[in-house]
Amino acid sequence: MKGSFKLGTIAGIGMFIHWTFALLIAFIVYINYKAGNNATQIIWAVLFILSIFVTVLLHELGHALTAKKFHINTKDITLLPIGGLARLERIPEKPSEELIVALAGPFVNILLALITSLFIRIPDNSEELIIILSGGINGSNFLLNFFIVNIWLSIFNLIPAFPMDGGRVLRALLSLKLKRHVATKIAARIGQVMAIGFILLGFISNPFLIVIGIFIIMGAQIEADLTESKYILKSYKVRDVLMKQYPTIDSNEKVKKAVELLLDSQYKNFLVTENDEPVGTLNRDQIILALTEKGENVAIHTIMNKALIFLHADALLENVFELVYENKSNLILVTENDQLIGTLDTENLLEFILINEAKSKSAYAK
Ligand code: ZN
Repeated sequence: MKGSFKLGTIAGIGMFIHWTFALLIAFIVYINYKAGNNATQIIWAVLFILSIFVTVLLHELGHALTAKKFHINTKDITLLPIGGLARLERIPEKPSEELIVALAGPFVNILLALITSLFIRIPDNSEELIIILSGGINGSNFLLNFFIVNIWLSIFNLIPAFPMDGGRVLRALLSLKLKRHVATKIAARIGQVMAIGFILLGFISNPFLIVIGIFIIMGAQIEADLTESKYILKSYKVRDVLMKQYPTIDSNEKVKKAVELLLDSQYKNFLVTENDEPVGTLNRDQIILALTEKGENVAIHTIMNKALIFLHADALLENVFELVYENKSNLILVTENDQLIGTLDTENLLEFILINEAKSKSAYAK
């Protein structure tokens, strides 16, 4: 994620923290200062926030390490002021696996609460609790606060608001009986309705709920669309969408030539060749950038993207969907019997999805 700094690596997973986290610390210091708290109180408050973020990190590691048991790697874990984000390489599609991976995060919080409970005395009644917690965080109520936060985090994460953990549990359970894309759609709608509730609640209580609500609405939509697209692509292969015609440009040509090609055609992505062999790809943004920064007389091979991505014509589209998507602005090369037979790009794939969606809708309309 942009604006993130690496903290380190655990079990081969990069841990990052987003710069906005500094804003949160500043905010905590500010409200404590405003409230007339002294330096010791402010330090305790900041320490507490840091302990919560270690907790969030452990929660995300819970998901990531459980996913690893099912041979799913995690690209990275990023800490944001509103929580953590573990980017799994893929989301387990087997309902039982998704269920376990989703539950693993809240389980970490329950475990932390249980461990903490061994070291604290839990107040007998709410009046006593209020007295202990009043006056902010200090050395004597730190662990009790930590205990409460972990209980709260496990409950909050289990609210069935997809794509939160509880929503994933719901989707996994629905997937036992329904097709995955239908289950996702239902879970996403439920999540979005709940998110509206979060946002409304945020206005009268904690404004963080507004941000979380917005994230849920968007996240649910993205995932619902993604599973829908994957469903539409089911049983189709790369060969069904590949472009047999694609523009090529020699690597020794100048940017000027690429600009001409860009203006002359509808193409935005080009294959760069040398002696008719593919050596790189070039997209519109790279051409424009080179033109502004280096002028029109630099050679294509100095500005092209040299990392070529190959796909076999028989690869299933639902399996390569993410790969194509992640390489949004690159041309992907399609091979068969070690021969280049065409190319593929994101736009291509999206068009194919739109057409098939329209076809299936008109089939219903009949
Ligand atoms: Zn979680």
